[in-house]
Amino acid sequence: MLRITRGRVYDPANRIAGEVRDVCVQDGRIVDDVPAHARTIDARGMVVMPGGVDIHAHIAGPKVNAARKLLPDEHRADVVDRTAIARSGTGGTVPSTFTTGYRYALLGYTTVVEAATPPLAARQTLAELRDTPVIDALFLILMGNNLALFELIRSEPARVREAIAWWLQATGGYGVKLVNPGGVEMWKRDNGNVTSLDDEGPGVTPRQVIETIATAVHDLGLPHPVHVHCNNLGVPGNWRTTLDTLRTLDGRRAHLAHLQFHAYGGRVGGRPRSRAPELADYLNSHPELSADVGQVMFGPATTMTADAPVSAVLRDITHGRWVNADTEVETGCGIVPFTYRERNYVHALQWGIGLELFLLSRDPWRLVLSTDHPNGGSFLSYPRLIRLLMDRDFRNEQIGRVNQQAMRRTVLRDDLDREYTLEEIAIITRAGPARLLGLADKGHLGVGADADITIYDDREDREEMFSAPRYVIKDGVAVVEDGELRAARQGRLLRVGADYDTSIEPALEALFEDRYSVQFSSYPVREPWLLEPARTVAARGGP
Ligand SMILES: [Zn+2]
Repeated sequence: MLRITRGRVYDPANRIAGEVRDVCVQDGRIVDDVPAHARTIDARGMVVMPGGVDIHAHIAGPKVNAARKLLPDEHRADVVDRTAIARSGTGGTVPSTFTTGYRYALLGYTTVVEAATPPLAARQTLAELRDTPVIDALFLILMGNNLALFELIRSEPARVREAIAWWLQATGGYGVKLVNPGGVEMWKRDNGNVTSLDDEGPGVTPRQVIETIATAVHDLGLPHPVHVHCNNLGVPGNWRTTLDTLRTLDGRRAHLAHLQFHAYGGRVGGRPRSRAPELADYLNSHPELSADVGQVMFGPATTMTADAPVSAVLRDITHGRWVNADTEVETGCGIVPFTYRERNYVHALQWGIGLELFLLSRDPWRLVLSTDHPNGGSFLSYPRLIRLLMDRDFRNEQIGRVNQQAMRRTVLRDDLDREYTLEEIAIITRAGPARLLGLADKGHLGVGADADITIYDDREDREEMFSAPRYVIKDGVAVVEDGELRAARQGRLLRVGADYDTSIEPALEALFEDRYSVQFSSYPVREPWLLEPARTVAARGGP
């Protein structure tokens, strides 16, 4: 039992914004009151928020592990020693599993989404998540370039819904991710890229894939809508593809991943321009849509994506190390280490577009914080990003340091003087992501919620403040105290429960036998140790 007394509480889901009040915890949950003998944390002068929820990051699975192998120099530069509580590990932009869990906890984050797992590789993702302590985690399965599913989209689109429910149950996944729908398969076949959503590459068009799967996810009533990484990531002029994707969704709910990377004007082969204002307007006027920003932060990053063609382009830019791998009939994958530089026109423009999206967004519940870790930068850069949003003078000073040609292509110098409040930060880093994910027990401090709580010293320098929370409570246990890791228990897997008609299994089995190297019966994850401890969030079912 625990009572956190006299802190300034920011709990936007319950309309509490800076009120001084107590927060009580019992048996891992928030409760109304606890007896007088309960342990007390005196939070006077401190800020109390729900634990952070990261809606889009890459922390486990084969591509993350391949990136670790690719970066021995990062390991050497950031060795994490064993302590009485923590296992040893390595840091850098792609930390080892244990270090990933510890560092998220030390940052005040208690729930993280692994945003892109090939269903065929679910076992590896699950095994790595088990080795990622403290945080609760969930993963999204890649469904945008799957040949068996494409066949079903062509022949029996009405059964896609059952197939997706089967896939989610077979893997322990939480939601559905589309990455460059149709486009990765097109590139794998003939090196082609999507020019329009009506391209007939692999027998289905990107538009068919988006429409059919978004409808299936909607009809299943999954807690999180379809999570879309649009076609043409990073390509000048791609904002038109993004808008076309949004129009194709036509009133269905959807979450757009790392919108910044999809907000470029200009001509293919030319210099990109910012189209952030147009996309921010569209998002503002469509309440069924949400996005995370995918902010670029200057310094080292590691790009890792199921969008294999994008990695091929990045390899040509960097001429350095890269990995490109195929997951047979499901997806591709590419990894390229990358450094974003202030003086570089494109990098500065990307940085500026992310900030424009944040500053032009009118609904923090629907445009939430991410760096697409580690693509735009490590999750360790979130505190600096928060300072950029909260501190106009700091931001303007930074704007003055980066490539000025790029800044002139943005509206950042046009009196964009908005400063995020602590309440808005609480929304874009916890309450909003939890709501968009349909996690009713996360992202708030109402009675019955998970007792995941972060307590910060209220410091003027918001980067310092958010870099080192004073206390982090996970499931009612103080895992961080005085800024130090004090406990590192295993978190849980959050998975979805979606019923399906088992008559889909023979149909899928026939599709599998023709395509997969893996037998249908061996495909579902059945090893109990991989799936525990877990909490299942039920789909609502039915449209
Ligand atoms: Zn991503």
